[in-house]
Amino acid sequence: MSHFTKAVPLPLTSPGTKRHLTFHRWGTLGTSPKVYIQAALHADELPAVMTACHLIPLFDAAAREGQIVGEIILVTNANPVGMAQSLNTHHLGRHAFADGGGNFNRGWPDLGAIVLERFRGSFGDNAQQNIVLMRTELRNAVVALPETSEWQALQKALLTLSIDADIVFDLHCDFQAELHLFAHVEHKDMVSDLGCDMGASVVILEQSIAAGLFDECNGGPWFKVRKALKLAADLMPAACFAPTIELRGRSDVSDQFGARDAANIMNFLRRNGAVLGEAPPLPAARCEATAVSGCDMIPAPVAGMVAWHVGVGTQVVDGEHIADVIDFDSPEPLLARTPVFARQSGRLFSQRLGHLTRPGEILCQIAGKTSLVHRQNAQFLNP
Ligand SMILES: [Zn+2]
Repeated sequence: MSHFTKAVPLPLTSPGTKRHLTFHRWGTLGTSPKVYIQAALHADELPAVMTACHLIPLFDAAAREGQIVGEIILVTNANPVGMAQSLNTHHLGRHAFADGGGNFNRGWPDLGAIVLERFRGSFGDNAQQNIVLMRTELRNAVVALPETSEWQALQKALLTLSIDADIVFDLHCDFQAELHLFAHVEHKDMVSDLGCDMGASVVILEQSIAAGLFDECNGGPWFKVRKALKLAADLMPAACFAPTIELRGRSDVSDQFGARDAANIMNFLRRNGAVLGEAPPLPAARCEATAVSGCDMIPAPVAGMVAWHVGVGTQVVDGEHIADVIDFDSPEPLLARTPVFARQSGRLFSQRLGHLTRPGEILCQIAGKTSLVHRQNAQFLNP
């Protein structure tokens, strides 16, 4: 089958409204390798949407040439709920307006726990059989998820498409940022290669966390089940590579970026056997992969207006004066500055978007080689 599209209806959330989730499929349903790519779970992150749109003609062309090896699913608008959230002319798609206002990329179900509870004794000493069984049980776990509310139904629809994939790309963007990636440390080689293909400035390696991210929901069960059942890694491999790809900052929306990022994703898929055809030589890495403990998230020390001394993409040194927070309510505002310093040497790859800040808000992120004491066992999470 070539290019198939479908709109999955979502339950009415209020009388007179109706939304749906559209997905695209190339290749053959149920075949491997399966690739799942979604954009804009955080609905106001349009660089992801642009890249997803530019993937469509590439997959169409590959399908015409018979190059889709297994199945590819693409969702260009993963969150039609958040896509509709606008307030005073501002699109706000990161947190839900309804149901307590949570972050759309938190609180995804712990499918590994469900699989463990139901099928604790089923896994054996054959890795391929374990993979097949795990995927079957993950699909069953998704089938059993609730679908009463619009958001529950949307989560379930997305997971129905993604949960048995070999590769799951969750496309996002940061506030102001260079292109960066994060993935589980066990996928260091794959995510490092992806970083080369994408031209990433920073690649962050995470341990399993318990924040309920979409990538973790898909990739995490493999680690969780293996650990709980004390299985060897070769008997329960990490069979779902689920990186999150941060496609620069929110304003970096252009056909040029989208076309380039889509072509780079395509090269990675060719290199990894999901699409036939030759990929160009792997580009040189722009960075070494960094542990979360080497990725600092610098909080605002006080409330005020941020005046940056450095921009995104700057190599800073430990102790460098990178910004001031100005108390413009003071009688001498330009003198009422609280300095902000880098706490390690490294690359400042992300800054917050607004200049008005509150104490504790993350001002910027710096990736370096130092394992920072205050970042041990930390998470790479913005609110
Ligand atoms: Zn995001």
